[in-house]
Amino acid sequence: MSTTNNVLTIEKLTVAFDGFNAIESLNLQVEKDELRVIIGPNGAGKTTLLDLICGRTRATSGSIRFKNQEISKEAEHKIVRAGIGRKFQTPSIYENLSVFQNLEVSYPSGRGVFGALAFTCTPQVRERMQAVAEEIGLQEVLAIEAGLLSHGQKQWLEIGMLLMQDPELLMLDEPIAGMSVRERELTAELLNRICKGRSMIVIEHDMNFVKQIAHKVTVMHQGKILAEGAMEDVQADPRVIDVYLGH
Ligand code: ADP
Ligand code: MG
Repeated sequence: MSTTNNVLTIEKLTVAFDGFNAIESLNLQVEKDELRVIIGPNGAGKTTLLDLICGRTRATSGSIRFKNQEISKEAEHKIVRAGIGRKFQTPSIYENLSVFQNLEVSYPSGRGVFGALAFTCTPQVRERMQAVAEEIGLQEVLAIEAGLLSHGQKQWLEIGMLLMQDPELLMLDEPIAGMSVRERELTAELLNRICKGRSMIVIEHDMNFVKQIAHKVTVMHQGKILAEGAMEDVQADPRVIDVYLGH
């Protein structure tokens, strides 16, 4: 397979914490416009893998290339600027700012949260905010204080804040944790909308949800890749059933 269509190419990636390899000689490729889901038991190294890609954790050895650029030694903010957005498990929105302001401060112009309060929005920023608000289904609540949103809406807002930067690779760590059934359905629709024209890596446990969004599934176990492929193949794999799905 040609590597030219890969947005992300990870080779022999290893990270040791106190002599224990949380990620061990891992290889992973994500294609342009692909939505990849990573599953696996707790402690498999899924979050650590995202930490490595976004520059929060330094690899012990190995390579991470984003659009053919080595990023494994880059600073976190440079990786963001290169086009990688990452959502953590706990939402980090500004509860006492409006939905509108939360999106506004996320526009990539280097303005911080304080600058934005006194800032008059340009038509360009406003247009981007409208488009994002529609994508995340929050266009009716732009004026509302973010702290008053439902748990699901807060998660969507945070995704929207990442979309303001229009990342080429968007990574979400357990985005539906704590959501209602209805919110999970809406989130699946949302992810299917926003993956158009970008690549995504989503970590999730809910197999019904995974089925609705995954182009391909990677199963991690003990810092390594146990299986990878179409959802049906992965679900039928005895090794995957043994270490993960059977429990
Ligand atoms: P997952 O997200 O798949 O549940 P994690 O990536 O959070 O797994 O953790 C993988 C392993 O690495 C776990 O054993 C965890 O305790 C360990 N780990 C993660 N981060 C650190 C760290 N900063 N220091 C030491 N150990 C860590
Ligand atoms: Mg995790």
